[in-house]
Amino acid sequence: MHPDAGSVIRGTGELGFRTVVLTTNGERLPEFLPHIVGNVTDLVVSVDTLDAIKADAWYGKGQGTLDRVLENVEHANRARAAAKRPFTLTLATVVTPNNMDDVYDVYDYAQQRGYRFSASPELQGVTPPKQLRASDSYRACFDFLLAEKARGGDIFGSVQYLEHLRDFRPFVCHPLTMLAVSPDGGVFYPCLEKANTIGSILTDDLHELRREASRTCKRQTQPCPCACPSPCALGLSLLVERPIREVSEAISGGFRALRTGRVRSNRL
Ligand code: SF4
Repeated sequence: MHPDAGSVIRGTGELGFRTVVLTTNGERLPEFLPHIVGNVTDLVVSVDTLDAIKADAWYGKGQGTLDRVLENVEHANRARAAAKRPFTLTLATVVTPNNMDDVYDVYDYAQQRGYRFSASPELQGVTPPKQLRASDSYRACFDFLLAEKARGGDIFGSVQYLEHLRDFRPFVCHPLTMLAVSPDGGVFYPCLEKANTIGSILTDDLHELRREASRTCKRQTQPCPCACPSPCALGLSLLVERPIREVSEAISGGFRALRTGRVRSNRL
């Protein structure tokens, strides 16, 4: 919705990052496709249910919103097929106490169309709702995704990542593997989730900010008691803590995808 969104997407692509992920609710996707193609490597669209009545109520934009979003995703899919530098297309579901049974339909929908699927639990601040922790349906949902992944389903995250999400396992968090910056330049420390800013990337030296923060901020306890099951905090931290397992799984998954024709060798 920011008036500069298009130029930010283009500018980010021009900086030459190997990976640029854009996460969106997909509502205005077509008008941004000219900026996305060639600049974004991974387009992620949030879809929490295929139940139109529920979805339209959650979007709060009137009847027909879900249909419009799904049409927009199809539109993006056609654009990526025609692009010189195709991007991955992921449907991402935030699993809440109100949509645990809907995850299966979104997964099937994504796989039938050649989209990746991603699931992560709802977070209230830094913690998931109690109903998810106590829910057999929640566990069953991630057991299903783990089984599908073993069968070659295109599902975001490694096996241990999905197991951590299923069990809400504590982990050693490495929040500084990622720089989180607010739209006005505020630098978060140690992480976005704790919502503490220490200065501005527009006016301060980033390394000096972090050095100063490591001296003055309350020391991060390990494992962090919050253990946020968020894709960034958990995914990157597992990569730091258990790189061999993560990398070997990525390589074997890549070869499996190549064998089944899901990716071309240059993407692998
Ligand atoms: S688990 Fe990591 S990302 Fe979450 S609050 Fe703790 S340090 Fe921050």
